[in-house]
Amino acid sequence: KAKSALNFGSGPSKLPLEVLEDVQKEFVNYRDIGFSITELSHRSEEYTELNQQAQDDLRTLLSVPDNYKILFTQGGGQGLLSAIPLNLIGENGTADYIITGIWSTVAANEAKKYGQINCIHAECDVPSEEKWNLNENASYLFYCDNETIEGKEFHFVPKVENIPIVADMSSSIMMKKIDVSKFGVIFAAAQKNLGTAGLGVVIVREDLLGRALNICPSFLNFTQLSQHNSILNTPPIFSIYLLSKVLKWVKQNGGLETMEQRCKEKSKLLYDTINESGGFYHCLVENTSIRSRINIPFCINGGDAKMEEKFLSEAAKCQIYQLKGHKLVGGIRVSLYNSISYNDVMILTDFMIKFKKENE
Ligand code: PMP
Repeated sequence: KAKSALNFGSGPSKLPLEVLEDVQKEFVNYRDIGFSITELSHRSEEYTELNQQAQDDLRTLLSVPDNYKILFTQGGGQGLLSAIPLNLIGENGTADYIITGIWSTVAANEAKKYGQINCIHAECDVPSEEKWNLNENASYLFYCDNETIEGKEFHFVPKVENIPIVADMSSSIMMKKIDVSKFGVIFAAAQKNLGTAGLGVVIVREDLLGRALNICPSFLNFTQLSQHNSILNTPPIFSIYLLSKVLKWVKQNGGLETMEQRCKEKSKLLYDTINESGGFYHCLVENTSIRSRINIPFCINGGDAKMEEKFLSEAAKCQIYQLKGHKLVGGIRVSLYNSISYNDVMILTDFMIKFKKENE
């Protein structure tokens, strides 16, 4: 199949073609060392440089202040859902979790293994902490910035005093500007906007280090990772290399400001197409103020499963793939990560308009 196929997957998702081609070009012989990056020692000078470069680029792109460490972990997003309580719940053993969807629920269930978890059931539009019934002794407040499965996004940072905020930004990192100083920890799995699966990225405020429970495995221990500059055991070198290529691409393509602008334009085009379809396409998230600009689920013809199957198979004939909604939500889901261009979305929306004409 030609590489021109469109991939709207929720993750693993599309990577920029320039990145893939660059990686392909130097895969066999990295920087003329005579062998591949994936055969290179993590103690080598080249890897030390790469590890630092990836951290520096993340720091620049996300304007990470000096009092935050940037760490690379293994075990992907779920590894980090365990690592958060293991590193932060501390001796008092309590934390608050805002529950807005499936990923925050998974996070809270994982944390319950290590402490007392206060679950605050909310939408992503809860305006203020007063309504949240927060526990003033909580070690931290957790929320999921973008619920990848349901397509719900926080368009603001919750305000709390004296409790570190921990945000899962797996599906929203690198798409919008964030004020890192408002957070205790920001983390993300890499397979959406940062590269490939298995790698986790953590941005942690320094004063939150040193609190890990004794049972915390060393490879997930933020303090130990920080002491070893994320080379505690053999890191996923290829994944970090790929991350560094993606970061370079973001830099070359205008940084976060451009990514955010593109994200707004792309999601507007898709939402407009849905809204102008006279109900043929219908957003699964009714509340417009919490709709995600990244993962956009919708149903067709009031949730007509046969019609949705037909949509997927017709789309595949046009080389448009990975549009099937998550099994717990159903319908169609379109994910608009940074690598998706406005033109890609236009091809999709043109297809949607044509499909509607032929099938309503
Ligand atoms: N959090 C969010 C918001 C996610 O979207 C995902 C993966 N889709 C995860 C956590 C879990 O990541 P992983 O599959 O790498 O464990």
